[in-house]
Order: sequence, then structure tokens, then C-alpha cells
Amino acid sequence: MLNASEYSRYSRHLLLDDFDEHAQRRLNNAKVTLFGVGGLGCQVASALAAAGVGEMVLIDDDTIEISNLPRQWLFTEKDIGQKKAEVARTRLLAMQSACTFHCITNFNDIAARDAHLTTSPLIIDCTDSFTSRLAINALAVTHSVPLISAAASGFIATATAFNPEISGPCYACPEYNSEQSLTCFEQGIFSPVVAIAGQLQAMMALSYLSGIRNPEWGSLHHFNGQNLLMRQFNIQKNPDCPTCSKIHRSEDHAHSL
Ligand SMILES: [Zn+2]
Repeated sequence: MLNASEYSRYSRHLLLDDFDEHAQRRLNNAKVTLFGVGGLGCQVASALAAAGVGEMVLIDDDTIEISNLPRQWLFTEKDIGQKKAEVARTRLLAMQSACTFHCITNFNDIAARDAHLTTSPLIIDCTDSFTSRLAINALAVTHSVPLISAAASGFIATATAFNPEISGPCYACPEYNSEQSLTCFEQGIFSPVVAIAGQLQAMMALSYLSGIRNPEWGSLHHFNGQNLLMRQFNIQKNPDCPTCSKIHRSEDHAHSL
């Protein structure tokens, strides 16, 4: 099924007990929508492209600034002032020419975004604002697409996969306090923590897309960069959640028919 070049390229994955040609082909045929090509997005897009994911939508209207360079490793000093999504596509294509990249650099281009969402089996949220995470979560719920979300600030990285249509909560289910809504712009960020958060997202995405393992939907993975401890919490589903409770109501309705 794979040709000799592909066998050689993906040989270290193919040696894994859980991974085979079919898993690799599933990655080659997968399409992913990434919101944000900053610190998290550079990590996720690089890992997915290197692993052979076939199609990626990169959504980001931001331009590269010098303060981005410690965390956003796809970019160089020469890229300052250019669009993140477009520079990332150039770098990622040099790494993986078989991947098709679509860039959306205007958040108001809703038609283009939604056209991709209808054909994308997975959304990965790599934005750094609480408001945008809630909006992307609402899109994922509306389009019935699983969502992998992450955050990094200070020395803390968190990552969670959501699929409320199958089980567990959505991103909007918990009650957040004001400190949790701070961005790295406001709170500072230790650069390697961003890489860990992004690679946690990549780990869940590649496992899911290859078919080797589904994420534990609604399980929050929490990494503390000061003591290097990893912990896990289950986020509770909120039956009154303004975003996903409609799904539950429709399920209840379906069961009552
Ligand atoms: Zn919810």
C-alpha cells in the first residue's frame, strides 16, 4: 500500500506495535482545521505535517512580531511583519511537500472557513484568547466536529479533547474564573511550556486521526513546568451549558421518540 519512499519516511512510526500501513494512510487522507498559527500552532502544524497528515487549513490573521520568535519556531527574523499562516505554509511545504495547505488570513471570511469545517473531521484550537476559544468551541459544536483545545501561560500547559456529541463536556461547560482567561500577553509564558501544550495536542490528534487511539474526551491534561508534574482531571458536563446543552436536549428528544 505504501511505496518504498513512504515506508522509509514513516518507518519509525510503522515499527510501533499499534501503528501500521492503514494508520499511516489514514493520516495521509486526514484533513485538519487549525485556528491560530502562533506558539501552539507552530508545534501542532509541524508535528502533523511531519507525520504525513494530508491536508491542513491554517487560520490566522496575525502578522509575525519579534516577541513571537522565542516560541513560534517556524518563523525567523526575516519573517517579521509577514502573515503567520502564509509563512508557516512555506516552511511546512519545505518539510512535507505532499501536504495541501489552505491559508485563511481574514477571520471575516466565514464562507471559506465554514466550507472547510464541513469537510474537516477535526478542529485544533491553537489560539491564545479565552474569547476565541469559546467561539471556536461553539463552531465545533455547531458543525459536530471534535475539538482539541490547549492553553499555556506562565509555567502551566493544559490540553483537552472535546467531543460532546459522543461523550463528555464541551469547552464552555465549566465556569472559568478571570485568572484562567488571561493570555500569555498578559501573564507571560515560559517558552518550552508552549511546546509541551502543542505537542500534547499533536499527540491526541495523531492518535485520533490514525485510528490507533481515541482521546479521553473531556479529560484535562495539566503540566506544571516548575516541578515537571503531569496531572489529569475530568471536566464535568454541565447540563445547562449554553453551548452544548442543545445536543443533550436533542439526544433526549431522540430517545423519547
Ligand atoms: Zn458544554
